Amino acid sequence: MSPSAYPALSFELYPPRNSEAQESLWTTVQRLEETRPDFVSVTYGAAGSNREAAIGLLRHLLTDTTLKPLAHLTCVGSTRVELVEIVERLLDGGVRGLLALRGDLPEGRTEPSGEIRYADEFVRLIREVESGRTAQLAAGKVSVGVAAYAMRHPESESLEQDVAVLLAKEAAGADFAITQIFFRRSDYAGLLTRARDAGVTIPIIPGLIPFTSPRRLTKLCDLAGIEPDRDLMARLEEAEDDDARRSLGVGATVELGRAVLDEGAPGIHLYTFNQPTAALDVLEALDLARPPEAGSAVTL
Ligand code: FAD
Repeated sequence: MSPSAYPALSFELYPPRNSEAQESLWTTVQRLEETRPDFVSVTYGAAGSNREAAIGLLRHLLTDTTLKPLAHLTCVGSTRVELVEIVERLLDGGVRGLLALRGDLPEGRTEPSGEIRYADEFVRLIREVESGRTAQLAAGKVSVGVAAYAMRHPESESLEQDVAVLLAKEAAGADFAITQIFFRRSDYAGLLTRARDAGVTIPIIPGLIPFTSPRRLTKLCDLAGIEPDRDLMARLEEAEDDDARRSLGVGATVELGRAVLDEGAPGIHLYTFNQPTAALDVLEALDLARPPEAGSAVTL
């Protein structure tokens, strides 16, 4: 397989919580579109708690922009029938990229319940739905992504278990993976080495968070069950004002972005939190090579 001359570029958005947030999100989307990303991912609440808002955002991307959406889906708390239904609905609506996730367990549970318990089973289910639509999908198969962890997933016993699970997701039919938040070059490099040694061959796209808000980083790390980088957090806390903090955070993210690209990352996935500024600042400083007119007939 010959590698693309251009690193992949993508952004993550979450569905708006109300109509005010929706207005400002449409502006964010417009600004991100100017950078011609390869795809834009749309998060999904565990058990589909914000399903209609997610579908609304996907519809906006498909109908009002040139952007290609990657729809996150979670299987925890849903029945097999419900999952088939949502996958079919998205495929019928023109979505061709799905990120198959388990989702976090509800408070107090230590084991998943239900018919589809882990992400590898969900990938298999998506492939089953897809195989029933081969004729409709003649112009392009579904691309299925999964989560990968550079820092141990809190329910896993070890980093090796995380990689064994990633291999199982690839065996089930995953095409690519996107990582959870991490802080150091060595976190990503370690994941790549472990994954390749274990036989994982799919691209592992690093998910980068602009390190501009210590509060947000603490919250995200709590949610993901990982430790924030102490040195970075201290430097952010000690910055003399918001401007200094932002510039330090953008600088640290750019440094990490360059480092992971040097390690062989296939591209960069930027978490935006629906605000374009920090992600665009990171992107500008990274100066990623982009195709002249990505996705347009001009380049054919
Ligand atoms: P899995 O791959 O199923 O793994 C979950 C845990 O179970 C791991 O500890 C794994 O080691 C273990 N495990 C897996 N298979 C087995 C097995 N057969 N037997 C025993 N143990 C097993 N969450 C949302 O709710 N909405 C989102 O939109 C969302 N987007 C995300 C995007 C990215 C890029 C990432 C990295 C995460 C995202 N998450 C999202 C969070 C994700 O749902 C959680 O991290 C969740 O706890 C695990 O999901 P998973 O798909 O990795 O699960």
